[in-house]
Amino acid sequence: MAKINQNYSKLPGSYLFAEIGRKVVQYKAEHPNSGVISLGIGDVTRPLAPSVIAALHKATDEMADSATFRGYAPYEGYEFLRTAIAEGDYKSRGTDISPDEIFVSDGAKSDTGNIGDIFDLSCVVAVCDPVYPVYIDSNAMSGRAGDFRDVWDRIVYMPSVSENGFSPSLPDGHVDLIYLCLPNNPTGTTLNRRELKVWVDYACEHGAVILFDAAYEAFITEEDVPHSVFEIDGAKRCAIEFRSFSKTAGFTGLRCGYTVIPRELEIDGVSIHSLWMRRQSTKFNGTAYIVQRAAEAVFSESGRREIGESIAYYLENAGIIRRGLADCGFEVFGGINAPYIWLKTPGGVSSWEFFDRLLSSAEIVGTPGSGFGPSGEGYFRLTAFGSRENTIEALNRIKTRLSF
Ligand SMILES: *Cc1c(COP(=O)(O)O)cnc(C)c1O
Repeated sequence: MAKINQNYSKLPGSYLFAEIGRKVVQYKAEHPNSGVISLGIGDVTRPLAPSVIAALHKATDEMADSATFRGYAPYEGYEFLRTAIAEGDYKSRGTDISPDEIFVSDGAKSDTGNIGDIFDLSCVVAVCDPVYPVYIDSNAMSGRAGDFRDVWDRIVYMPSVSENGFSPSLPDGHVDLIYLCLPNNPTGTTLNRRELKVWVDYACEHGAVILFDAAYEAFITEEDVPHSVFEIDGAKRCAIEFRSFSKTAGFTGLRCGYTVIPRELEIDGVSIHSLWMRRQSTKFNGTAYIVQRAAEAVFSESGRREIGESIAYYLENAGIIRRGLADCGFEVFGGINAPYIWLKTPGGVSSWEFFDRLLSSAEIVGTPGSGFGPSGEGYFRLTAFGSRENTIEALNRIKTRLSF
């Protein structure tokens, strides 16, 4: 008889967005004339840039002609895109990453979820808390997280809260794999060069590997915030970096990301780059040609300009939310180097109670911080991915209708 992977039975239900959806449906049913605004989703809303669309059309036409048709793409991505990434995302910022250290994929969720395949099940995993749920759940599925009782008993949670300025302390005990998401989802906060250096030094010294998710790199506005972990000395010996075109260039529906594994990264003399190549060539058959051409267009002069305008639009929304909330007396974080605003719920109300009050009094949907981990309790996430009009209207409602 077949048996299921029992690790899946240990997973708590993916309660967060289902529960939000259920509450919103119920509210709308009870208030048919409501004008609910969602600042809850972590998805972009602006269309793809004209340069990206033009590249998609052109590549699609190539696929219609036997002379230019392409079948399977290389497992690690086309040279044209890996070169564009190495130049546009690294060399332009003074970081030396070679095209053959880059693996193109269908997105950072797959890569951050799959990277555990190449590490031993005995590795101890550390995550910032609150955190993007993929890191913990993917480790739970493979049996590396232990058992779940409120928290996973083999995961080391590193609280990232206002009291420590969202700069978590190094773990007390030994850890092997450290997930860092910077700028962070959900808190919208990040670390400066000096703070990140502490983690790189720790990993190099303890033989740990940093799994660095830089999905929001393009939103960084402050000078002292590193765009890549590889800006920090020593990182090439202890870090893997994940990037995505999803939030950067609106590719959430098109699907493209990439992972950087430096040649220097070895464990016990084994090249991590070779292991990942072996893994990808077995379980992954490449990213669509037309999508890779679309991603290449992101690095063209016009692509860069158009994408910069979209990011500026979202960041202006973030500023409207941040300033609006601060004017109302909220304690707010993030929103400067990220499209997320993280607020402390007033008067010590729980994240879910704040959700209910925001929905019933202002008809605004956000995301309860407790859904991202135990240290998210007492916080709430709003996103800057809405339209300008809705963002302004939402803040007006918070000012006029909400009282604590
Ligand atoms: C949105 C997001 C990603 C991107 O995932 P894709 O699969 O590339 O769309 C990765 N990491 C974090 C933290 C995210 O919020």
